[in-house]
Amino acid sequence: MYALLVGSGISGLAQEAITFGADKVYIVDDPLLRDYQTDSYVLVMEKAVKQAMPRILLLGQTPIGRDLAPRLAFRLDTVATMDCVALAIDPDSKLLLQTKPVYGGNAQAVFTCETFPRIATIRAKAMSPLKADASKRGEIVTIEAGLTPGVIRTKVLERVKEEIAGIKLEDAEVIVCGGRGIGSTDGFKQLEELAKILKGAVGATRPPCDSGWVSDTRQIGLTGKIVTPELYIAIGVSGASQHMAGCSGSKIIIAINKDPEANIFREARFGVVADWKKVLPAFKDKMREVLAK
Ligand SMILES: Cc1cc2nc3c(=O)[nH]c(=O)nc-3n(C[C@H](O)[C@H](O)[C@H](O)COP(=O)(O)OP(=O)(O)OC[C@H]3O[C@@H](n4cnc5c(N)ncnc54)[C@H](O)[C@@H]3O)c2cc1C
Repeated sequence: MYALLVGSGISGLAQEAITFGADKVYIVDDPLLRDYQTDSYVLVMEKAVKQAMPRILLLGQTPIGRDLAPRLAFRLDTVATMDCVALAIDPDSKLLLQTKPVYGGNAQAVFTCETFPRIATIRAKAMSPLKADASKRGEIVTIEAGLTPGVIRTKVLERVKEEIAGIKLEDAEVIVCGGRGIGSTDGFKQLEELAKILKGAVGATRPPCDSGWVSDTRQIGLTGKIVTPELYIAIGVSGASQHMAGCSGSKIIIAINKDPEANIFREARFGVVADWKKVLPAFKDKMREVLAK
């Protein structure tokens, strides 16, 4: 297994990649790679892949991975399968079997590809990392970026860091997600209290973000974030396919909704058919009590 590290001032990370399982680490370290820019990263990735000649190339389903994978596939005359949640090798054909959600998360399909390298982007937390082994040894290969400033057609003028109070949505083990049924900014404050008790984060469907009750950065779904927490508590959420596309990988879903016919109950392991305003105070008290033990 090889790792490819691209960036500026990243040489120190090669040993860490070996510790986590890489047998060989290709590293492209250049000041012009300090900021992620499509032009420079596509060029060096193409160069590195042509040198390393992998049969399979895996990237994260991150904003960078989503940008790079299709461009690389085009340049390398192959295809990319985006947003995979599982990978396997077919024992007979030795083809890479790439499983990904389709139809807005309502079904999963397995894709294969006959050209090399087989490129796939992998959804966050779909796989567990290996345990670090400090005794592991590996080879480090340096690749010259060979970039000139002229190849980069865009300029980073400013960086604005998203302000996050508490746990990041993508990293949260517990997410309390509110839908249109929450009704207001004040309603979301109550969800924040529950998230705090459970050491989790607050997410939302699209309508509360569009209405300004919560920040857009909280949106989960097809056009929002994809999350895979251990526990997903959906409150006042109908369970539309565009929303489920972002949370169907959650281990356990609990739904609170006053409509017994709501689609969310088809996806949820546990459900409460009730007005959330009546349920939430008792639920919060119980959680406090249980977690205090
Ligand atoms: C191209 C496209 C992309 C989209 N991307 C996304 C996306 O990324 N994320 C996303 O979420 N949506 C997305 N949508 C919108 C999506 O189709 C749904 O409209 C949206 O998810 C519905 O949000 P909701 O469940 O909060 O609202 P609703 O569907 O209106 O459901 C509200 C629910 O709250 C319940 N409720 C109301 N009051 C209470 C109460 N007091 N107690 C308990 N329950 C109550 C109701 O019974 C209802 O089930 C997208 C749509 C399109 C077309």
